[in-house]
Amino acid sequence: TGRVNYRPTRAVVDTSAIRTNVRKLRKKLPAETGVIAVVKADGYGHGAAESARAAFREGAIMAAVATPDEALDLRDSGIQQPILVLGPVPIPFLKEAIRQDITVTIPGVQWAQAAAAELQGNEETLKTHVKIDTGMGRIGVRSEEEIIELLKILEGTSAIEVEGIFTHFATADEQDTKSTKVQFRKFNRLAACFPERPKLIHAANSAAALRFPDFALDAVRFGIGMYGIAPSEVVARELPFPLERALRLETEIAFVKQMVAEEPISYGGTYVSRPGEWIATLPIGYADGLKRGLRNQHVLVRGQRVPIVGTICMDQCMIRLPEQLPAGEPVVLLGKQGNEEITMEEWATRIGTIPYEITVTIARRVQRQYF
Ligand code: PLP
Repeated sequence: TGRVNYRPTRAVVDTSAIRTNVRKLRKKLPAETGVIAVVKADGYGHGAAESARAAFREGAIMAAVATPDEALDLRDSGIQQPILVLGPVPIPFLKEAIRQDITVTIPGVQWAQAAAAELQGNEETLKTHVKIDTGMGRIGVRSEEEIIELLKILEGTSAIEVEGIFTHFATADEQDTKSTKVQFRKFNRLAACFPERPKLIHAANSAAALRFPDFALDAVRFGIGMYGIAPSEVVARELPFPLERALRLETEIAFVKQMVAEEPISYGGTYVSRPGEWIATLPIGYADGLKRGLRNQHVLVRGQRVPIVGTICMDQCMIRLPEQLPAGEPVVLLGKQGNEEITMEEWATRIGTIPYEITVTIARRVQRQYF
């Protein structure tokens, strides 16, 4: 909206880090392999349009999103490059997809039948990528028989163009690489059932793109790695180049007090101060993505780790300071300050999830700043 956001809680996104990650990946991949920038869930919380633009400046060939609305949002933001919707889209979206030149995924035979009926007599064609389920068990055609059925439907319509074929790995980020290899073989076998080779055959997510350049094919779908986060610890140990983190979450101390006695802090009084302690209040809470389960998590103040104390509230939380510090003092929740760093992996470990879930949980009301 262009309106000033008066709250100092912000996610600062370094688009040059995104560019560097895309550029370095491209250097590691065969020259003919394109990068599809996965910017679903608002660019994993980094901003979809800004992240896509950064990737396109480094030669990405396409952006991928999860839903029709995410694709339309990118078009509304002025993105004119190809966009692929990875998830299943409702049939009523298809004519709009054609109007806005959005490529959609064929998730199965029945969907193709419904799409062909919807587009009967349509002059313009819908661009599609066929999803093949080789072991993810989510969407996609699963056998040669299904592909033959699908091909029959496609032969009967001129309104659907198959521009790509793809699959998705379920365990590409794990130590044991066996089932990824099985998936890849199955994919090649099923992709060969198509009489004409489509332009874009793709399989690899970040983990596969970083670990198995042999699986790169025509394109890789680069998601989490583009934002500088390794898909798993296994991949982090095997990175072909260091990833640069693109997001930093920061705020400022809003309020400071010295405790005079043993006094409870926050809901439930689960933390009791010691006399003399300095307690600061931060303008960030679980409605911003600082999950309640992150109680006791450290934040960085003056380059030092200090703990969150007491229950995290919806919009605020308290930290214990080593000394008196003024309101307005910068605080880093995710990122570096001095020699210390707090990562999404650290948060994820604390609350028993993966960094993917952390990065998409940073709320919309946290202002994004780009540089
Ligand atoms: N391709 C598909 C079909 C996906 O669902 C996703 C994300 O989950 C990706 C690619 C990107 O995966 P990653 O973020 O691990 O690179």
